[in-house]
Amino acid sequence: MNNSSKPSKGAEKILLAQIKQEFSAPAEAIEHYIEVVEQFAKENHLNVSSEINQIKDSEKKLLSQYEDAFNENTSLNSEKKSSEEYSVLRHNLRTPLNAIIGYSEILIEDFEEDLSDEIIKDLESILNLSRDIEKAIERFVDFIRGELSETEVIDSDQGQIENAESLFKSLGDIDYSLEIEEHLQNSDVLIVDDNVTNCEVLARRLSQNGLSCRMAYDGTTAIEEVEKKTPDLILLDVMLPDINGLELLKKFRKKNKIDSLPIIMVSAFNDVDSVAKCIKLGASDYLPKPLNGTILMAKSIANLEAKYFRSREQELLKELHIRATTCPLTGISNRKVVFDKIDKAFKKTKKKDDYVFNILSMDIDFFKSVNDTYGHPGGDEVLIAIANKLNSSFKTNLVGRVGGEEFIGVIDKLENLSVFDFCENIRKEIVDLPIKFQDHNIKVTMSGGLASSTEIENLEDLINLADERLYKAKKGGRNQIIFQ
Ligand code: GH3
Ligand code: MG
Ligand code: MG
Repeated sequence: MNNSSKPSKGAEKILLAQIKQEFSAPAEAIEHYIEVVEQFAKENHLNVSSEINQIKDSEKKLLSQYEDAFNENTSLNSEKKSSEEYSVLRHNLRTPLNAIIGYSEILIEDFEEDLSDEIIKDLESILNLSRDIEKAIERFVDFIRGELSETEVIDSDQGQIENAESLFKSLGDIDYSLEIEEHLQNSDVLIVDDNVTNCEVLARRLSQNGLSCRMAYDGTTAIEEVEKKTPDLILLDVMLPDINGLELLKKFRKKNKIDSLPIIMVSAFNDVDSVAKCIKLGASDYLPKPLNGTILMAKSIANLEAKYFRSREQELLKELHIRATTCPLTGISNRKVVFDKIDKAFKKTKKKDDYVFNILSMDIDFFKSVNDTYGHPGGDEVLIAIANKLNSSFKTNLVGRVGGEEFIGVIDKLENLSVFDFCENIRKEIVDLPIKFQDHNIKVTMSGGLASSTEIENLEDLINLADERLYKAKKGGRNQIIFQ
């Protein structure tokens, strides 16, 4: 290892980024914890705003002082200072940090009773993070004094990498390609940017990777393009000549949920507040300008992927629902749906005095002989024809296939028609129903038993009553409906 050799520009950059990261990571985490604590205090009406404000102010001071010190001491032409000056700098940075530690300790000690265990843990995290920052300040000052060698920094985090130079080199060797998988190939991406060159560069890069791009140089065109066809992804510039990007984002979000239309905002405003604002308005992600090709591709792919899987998920859920609620042979409601409806209807009779419903239990007559004569496929054809007929005759009332050649109808919506006439009409319709199978014209009849919710107190008894009447209809010669 050769410490005396001057690190390359790339290596120096890594060192600086690392030094800064050691400070900013815990500092950002503290900010997050303060927000959580503040929200808890607000929700629980705790009188701790002065302590919290002190912590917040100190945090702000700490961040800006560090930023200034970092810029001043790490730029190309920064001058070496006296050791006294370095001590002052260290002291100045520690002052707001000590305030954060002090007020956090006060909160823990004085409000222990009012705070939840979780919030106490959050405050303890603030204390631990403050210790990390203390160390980071120490190392930062050592570094700008020239007392921290490059290897020391790198070795502390990356045991196996000997120095910054080799780390940098090893990064260059990583072959990490962002490949677009087949299901995302030709995804439709709309690029909205008033700068034609920007648009073209973006489109070029995305197309090169297998995506299909449309371009809009202003907001109005972007709206037209989305209306023509909703794209799979929009890359939206914040600054546009006619409608600003955030307004456009709001507009798109009104009609398209984040699940169905991911929108990545692209802007040179790279501060946290702008990014947060975009996210709050419904942006899926954010890309800072100037664009980095790798990050552009990674974020585009991630968002397209998420959209793809969400829509697959929706399709599968729909399919699952269909499978769970319909009979696969006939496509009408299945047993579960019918019995759920009966259950609900029965509960409704307990709540609404004037609500009445009827159960019609039906069974095809001599169906076994249909199978015997025409084979199973012929029998299936009959089941399908009868299911369709019943389904259209029941209209807003529910009918489902509950067994082999058994159907149950739940009748609670009849206008200008008695339940007797309704059932008789259905029986006759089946008698008249032409069922074509190969060269045959199959004729069947159906028997039924009707029971009304007014007749019985108990749900099971009601279903049994309908079945008993169906049995009576069979015994009595079939092709009839027994009502009492
Ligand atoms: P009944 O008038 O007394 O109801 O006589 P049935 O022949 O209709 O009644 P049974 O219960 O003896 O026979 C019903 C037949 O329905 C037996 C079974 O093989 C047939 N079946 C049940 N499910 C299906 C199906 O999905 N497709 C076909 N083709 N036949 C089925
Ligand atoms: Mg039968
Ligand atoms: Mg049967």
